[in-house]
Formats: sequence, C-alpha cells, structure tokens
Amino acid sequence: MEQEYSITEEINHYLDILFPITRSLTGKGNRETLRVIQEIIPLKIKEVPSGTKVYDWIVPDEWNIKGAWIKDRSGSTLVDMANCNLHVVSYSEPVKMIMDWDQLRPKLNWIDELPDAVPYRTSYYKRDWGFCVTKDQYDAIREAGTVEVFIDSEFSQGSLSYGEILIPGKSEKEILISCYICHPSMANDSLSGVILTAFIARSLMSDQPELMHSYRIIFVPETIGAITYCATHEEQIKELVAGLVITTVGGPGKYGYKQSFEKNHDINGIIESVLNEMDIDFITYPFDVYGSDERQYSSQGFRVNVASITRDKYYEYDYYHTSLDNLDYVKAKNISESYDIYRRIIARLDRNLTYDTVQKYCEPMFGKRNLYPSLGGGLLPPEEEMDDLDCMLWLNYFCDGTHSLFGISEAIGATVEQLHRIARILESRGLLKLLL
Ligand code: ZN
Repeated sequence: MEQEYSITEEINHYLDILFPITRSLTGKGNRETLRVIQEIIPLKIKEVPSGTKVYDWIVPDEWNIKGAWIKDRSGSTLVDMANCNLHVVSYSEPVKMIMDWDQLRPKLNWIDELPDAVPYRTSYYKRDWGFCVTKDQYDAIREAGTVEVFIDSEFSQGSLSYGEILIPGKSEKEILISCYICHPSMANDSLSGVILTAFIARSLMSDQPELMHSYRIIFVPETIGAITYCATHEEQIKELVAGLVITTVGGPGKYGYKQSFEKNHDINGIIESVLNEMDIDFITYPFDVYGSDERQYSSQGFRVNVASITRDKYYEYDYYHTSLDNLDYVKAKNISESYDIYRRIIARLDRNLTYDTVQKYCEPMFGKRNLYPSLGGGLLPPEEEMDDLDCMLWLNYFCDGTHSLFGISEAIGATVEQLHRIARILESRGLLKLLL
C-alpha cells in the first residue's frame, strides 16, 4: 500500500537530502541539487558554457572541490571541510603549502560575536582562497603557529547549471517564480526557498486545468544565474506580469515581505491582503536595491514587479550567512506554513485578471439575460459580505479594460475570488471579455 506523506514530512525529507550538498555558482553540487528536485517536479536542467557573455558579465569557469583542511605539524586536523562545507571560501583556488600564523591570518574568516559559527564567504570573481572557522578553531590555528593548508579545488571550462519548468495556463501571460541554488549548507538562506519553490511548482501542476496565468519557475545561482537567464530569455522576461523570488522562508521568526519596486502594484496589495486575512503579523520591507534576484528582473529594460515573502528575511537574522543557519534553526513546519501563504498569494495573483466590457455605452439589460433572478437565488453564497448582485453591478461599472479584479476588490470590499467567479458568469453571458 502506498503511504501518504504530509507536505511537512516531504519538506523534512528534502531538507535532510539537500542540506549537506556543496553548492556554489557552478559545479556538481548544483547539478545534484537540481536532480534531487527532479524527484518532485519534471524540471529541465540547462547548461550555459563557461565564458558565455551575458550582458556585462561572463559565465565563470566551473568550480568543483573535493576537500580542504588545515593540519598542525604533528598531522592533527584543525579544520576539515568534510565536517562543514562553509569552511572553505567558495571559489577558492587550489592551495597546498606550509604557512606560519602571520601568512595565514589574512586568509581566515571568523565572527567574534558568534564564536561557534562558521561564516559563509565567497570569492567568485577574484581568484583567491580562504578558510572560515569558529573562534576555537581560529585560536587553535594561532597556537599551532606553523600549519599545513590544503584546498583540493579545480576550475574548468564547464558550465553554469540552472533548472526551469514552464506550466502553461489559459493565458500566455506569465508569472515568474525564481529561487537561487548557489548556497552550500545553510538552511534558511537559499535552501528553504528552493524546496518551497519545488512544492509550489508541484501544486501548480496539479491545479493546471484551472490556472489562468502561465508560470515560469526557475532555479538559478543568484545574480549571475538570474542575469544569464535574463540574457537568454530577454523577451520572455520583458513580458512577465509579475514575479516572486522565494528565499528565507523557514526561520522561526517573523514573517516579512519585500515590496516590488512599484509600491502600489497589485502584487504588493495582494500579498498584504492575504497576510492580513490570515491574521499574520508581518514586517514590510520597502523595495531596495540590495536584495536578491528581483534586482535583475526589476532592472532597467525589464522593470518587472517582483516581491518576496520571507520568514526571517536574509540580512535580518543573527545566523544569516553562517553555519548556525542549519537544521536546528530551520524547521520543515515553518517552510510548510510559508508554503500555505505562498499558495494563497499565488492563487489570488492567478485570478487577478482584467476584463473589458462588451457594451460600449450604458448598462446592459441584465434582466433579459436572466441575470437578476438567478443571482438572487442559487448563485448567492450567504457567507460573502458583498452579494453577487452588487459584484455584478460593480464589475459592470468598473470593467473597461483598465481595472484589475484586485483593484475592484479593494474599491468595493469583495474578494478577488468572488469577483472572478461573477466575472466568469458575465463573460459566459457575453457581457465581459477577458483581456489576456
Ligand atoms: Zn545569501
């Protein structure tokens, strides 16, 4: 008999599998991560060769690492990447040498205020190397004086890997969902968003017959991956209706959302309406040029409104970019709660359509289409505050091709879902037409 797992159990399973993998901008760990995601959704894995010019950037050489350590003169291991993949600065060049304390010290990163944490550092675009250590390890290396340092890494003319899944709806108008796959063993930053995105994609696939919009869902390394994707899908990005960057959704702390660059854009209003309805206390982060891949999608030339709903947002929590952002800190239950919120937001975004009237002037005659009597009876669910007749008249009033259903819902106090239901009736009676 097939066993049913809850979404929380599934998320937990994938946290355990994906957390230990060494990811970076490129490399085997990214491919392995995408292959694991393929167990959840039929993701297409694409490769863009190193050296490809993408706007002002170049896809870097592929980086892979087998191991790294620091040993004292007696051969005892002081630091070993096998214990924590954050120990090595990502994109470190290979090194094997004997060093004394003064030489090694500038290559060490640690955090005074979090002595037990291993910081996360990268050197993607400048050839360099380094180690990240706890305060105890730092002290032990200093005491050891002379040590042997080894980084078994390799650069090659390989490729940058990303994952993509397109889920077509009734309209060709697309909503982007983007997450980044480049962080090694940290659970809230990056991984929680990757897993949540995969499950959102799976739920959209099962809702597909009902979807009004199409969905472009991508798993890219942050910044260079998003830029590469934009450069190779320029026309598609320009046409996007809106987008979501999903990251840091699994912490124990407060919900927040980063607004898209147009404060009054529907995506921001929809997010707030859902969070308020769910009685969630949240922090609003206005759009900022610092952040994640919304920076690329919202940049000059594209200007797509992209927002993020977070739980312990990047930059904001103490364990951000450290080894303490781990599976003690992040729980599947938190990600699963964020998943429910994203599902509701996306469902509302999906139904946020714009209709135009067929009658150019004055009110249509509802009576001859049997709309008055039918709306007075069976079509009226009593729990909704605005009755269906009100919605019909207001929809007829507003729908001139310039008002979204969310805009109308805000103006009259009905829900997008209710308006969408009535608009479809009016559409079926030839009174409204959907602008797709
Ligand atoms: Zn990060």
